[in-house]
Amino acid sequence: MTSELDVLLTLQEHDTALERLLHRHQTLPERQALVDAEAAAAALDARLVTTRGERDKAAREEQQLDDEARSLAAKATEVERRMYSGEISSPKELQAMQADVEQLRKHQGTIEDREFELMEVREPLDAAVADLDQKRAALGADLERYAAALGAAEAEIITEMQAERAMRDELAAGIDAALVQEYERCRTLAKGAGVARLVGTTCQGCHLSIPAIEAEQIKRTGGQPLAHCDNCGAILVP
Ligand SMILES: [Zn+2]
Repeated sequence: MTSELDVLLTLQEHDTALERLLHRHQTLPERQALVDAEAAAAALDARLVTTRGERDKAAREEQQLDDEARSLAAKATEVERRMYSGEISSPKELQAMQADVEQLRKHQGTIEDREFELMEVREPLDAAVADLDQKRAALGADLERYAAALGAAEAEIITEMQAERAMRDELAAGIDAALVQEYERCRTLAKGAGVARLVGTTCQGCHLSIPAIEAEQIKRTGGQPLAHCDNCGAILVP
């Protein structure tokens, strides 16, 4: 018949498996890939905001200059229309109007030069925004893929953990609750084995030896009352 202490050893195997699974859950490579991709996406988003801001500012200024140039052209055309309408007969006035037109066209030319300069600033910014947008979209697809991979890996581990937990709880329910509690106390203190097989004089928890006379006594009593390893504190099972 299996003693409660033997059951405790099996229970510990499940606890150890649970710890390993938890560690795997915490250190999944898929998680790191996702964290890295999220950081890259955040950096890219920040660059997009800055670059798009610069581009929009240049585009606005360019539009303002374009409006101004059009308005000057319209004014010049209107003066010319009046000049050639036949309404004006005074040569002096016509001369003044001609000077106006020249002034307006010259101003328009200056504005158009500045508009062209701004266009040369804006166009590379357009290209940069398009490039960043494309990279961000690709990264967005990566993010989705990484998140799905992580979710699948996590789900797999969680299923295993649930199975281990169920087996563990079933074993725990079949033995003395105080014994389980004592095992848990020892396991927390030892940060490892809460219960260990005694082989000869060697504790299988820490692989150190206990005095032969103690080992003899534990074997004789079947480990009851509970005996603990002098070195790691684990409950010893003969
Ligand atoms: Zn030990």
